Amino acid sequence: MNPSCPYCGGATTAAFMAQDWNRRIDARLFEYWRCNRCSLVFMYPVPEDLGRYYPSDYHHIPASAIELAANAEHERYKVDLLTRYCKAGRLIEIGPGNGGFAYLAKAAGFSVRAIEMSAACCRFLEDVVGVEAVRTTSERDALMSGPPADAIALWHVVEHLVDPFDLVRAAAERLSPGGVLILAAPNPSAFQFRLFRGRWTHVDAPRHVTLIPSAVLKQVAEASGLVLALETTLDEGSVGWDSFGWEFSLGTLSTMPRIRSRLRRLGRMLARVFAPIERVEGRGSAYTLVFRKPE
Ligand SMILES: [Zn+2]
Repeated sequence: MNPSCPYCGGATTAAFMAQDWNRRIDARLFEYWRCNRCSLVFMYPVPEDLGRYYPSDYHHIPASAIELAANAEHERYKVDLLTRYCKAGRLIEIGPGNGGFAYLAKAAGFSVRAIEMSAACCRFLEDVVGVEAVRTTSERDALMSGPPADAIALWHVVEHLVDPFDLVRAAAERLSPGGVLILAAPNPSAFQFRLFRGRWTHVDAPRHVTLIPSAVLKQVAEASGLVLALETTLDEGSVGWDSFGWEFSLGTLSTMPRIRSRLRRLGRMLARVFAPIERVEGRGSAYTLVFRKPE
């Protein structure tokens, strides 16, 4: 029997099967479903040993503060976006990984608290990035037991969670009046997803448990009292995921290094060919949402 939608309880249709094409931890097949009512795409069943699909090299830990600073520049667009909506104050980042954004936000004057499941990342965040890091696999509990925030950021985090909706509700509650919530996630309405389906690199089975339509996240956030300030698939971050999507959806077709590098080159070329289609609002590989909590 088909599982019902974990968000709205609606009936579902089998969408596709996928393997861990990105990392090939093993050859297990994972089943994804699509809700007929809200269009949520989700994996079911969720493997109990999901943790084993996050190997110790999942996050690259920079060797030095100099490397951290150099790498962080690729995430500069995140701070530029944040400061359009919130100039300073307390920032909570959930799932910061190796902390490029946290580092830049701290340098921009934010007081940063990181909630992260990787012990190695937490050590790096505290010792090198210089921000407070809470290590947990229960992001919601860490959020609710800590101080309120002027900004909460979830950069490509919600798709990894079995219950992303509860975390969004908790974030809405934890924001100070006037505070902002920033979310970015893969877009299940993407042109590339229609093309690649289970081979789309942003499916990232089984690490991506859900691919959430932006309309669903808007519904959850708005029901929690937040007001939409920005919705786009055309910001610098989202557009970057378009070319990444082409390069790696093709690149992971082969395990042979020479063929793989040719496929990736072809992917970068196709990214330029299809850019006019993907640079239409709503069609891109990822979306960014910004919500504000009314004063
Ligand atoms: Zn649904």
